[in-house]
Amino acid sequence: MIRLDGKQTSNRIKEEIKAEVSAMKTRGERVPHLAAVLVGDDGASLTYVGSKVRSCEYVGFDSTLIRLEANISQADLLKQIEDLNQDDTLDGYIVQLPLPKHIDEEKILLSIDPEKDVDGFHPANFGRMALELDAFIPATPFGIMQLLERYEVPTQGKHCVVVGRSHIVGRPISILMSQKGPAGNATVTVAHSRTENLPELTRQADIIVMALGIPEYLTADMVKEGAVIIDVGITRVPDENHPKGYVIKGDVAFDEVAAKSSFITPVPGGVGPMTIAMLLKNTLQARQWNLP
Ligand code: NDP
Repeated sequence: MIRLDGKQTSNRIKEEIKAEVSAMKTRGERVPHLAAVLVGDDGASLTYVGSKVRSCEYVGFDSTLIRLEANISQADLLKQIEDLNQDDTLDGYIVQLPLPKHIDEEKILLSIDPEKDVDGFHPANFGRMALELDAFIPATPFGIMQLLERYEVPTQGKHCVVVGRSHIVGRPISILMSQKGPAGNATVTVAHSRTENLPELTRQADIIVMALGIPEYLTADMVKEGAVIIDVGITRVPDENHPKGYVIKGDVAFDEVAAKSSFITPVPGGVGPMTIAMLLKNTLQARQWNLP
């Protein structure tokens, strides 16, 4: 069994990006610039945005954190987005989700210029990705594809069962893995909460991507010998014995499933750490598409 180490792989990707930025500086080019919009002061969002900004600094990008009051009106937020769309010094930006309840999240995401949408959530990017055109690919599925590719996990002709059909994970990864190209060419089945006989399906799978958010849902009896397991799930499970009062669990019962698998992502330390690295990769790509 080989662990697909997202921490190590994401660090390697960050080093590659850092080297590329340093080469841009040597050539006298402007370095990539990412902005992050944070509305309100939700603790988890603050943590995520903080580590995105720190990662930008680490690889040598310019970064701007725009903090807005939780009670900002939708009109004022849209105005802010428009300013970012017009800002030529900016290659890409993200709007940290979730947004406060009085804001129409879809309307905000649709107002982002697709050419600066480094989260890849705009329908224009999703459509371009599905048509195999240049596009910003959402960070989590992009990170999974990178892990599969860099570990040379065989995917061609394999049966992949994706459990979950969300717009940010399940659906895009099912599209990417069925496309031509590295880590692609798989035969993909998409399962969801209405799927009948899920264990029967997962037992036939060469590759299983779990993206549903139910801790330790995939157990050893649902997996065939030698399967590849990608665990996207992140759930905080209360645990009095832990200083933080909780532990992070994936969607896979790790120990028992790992014993049967050929490759597996741990939680934490698997898919999760890849996400920020892929956001940086998309921002570098945005800068390169914007050159000179
Ligand atoms: P969503 O809640 O948007 O989607 C969950 C999906 O799982 C839905 O399609 C749902 O089906 C399906 N589902 C729910 N219950 C079952 C079941 N019993 N059997 C089969 N399918 C089921 O979640 P996300 O895709 O946003 O996230 C999934 C998990 O991944 C979460 O734990 C989240 O925290 C984590 N995550 C991790 C990231 C990372 O960086 N590692 C990034 C993003 C998410 P239906 O459509 O029918 O409702």
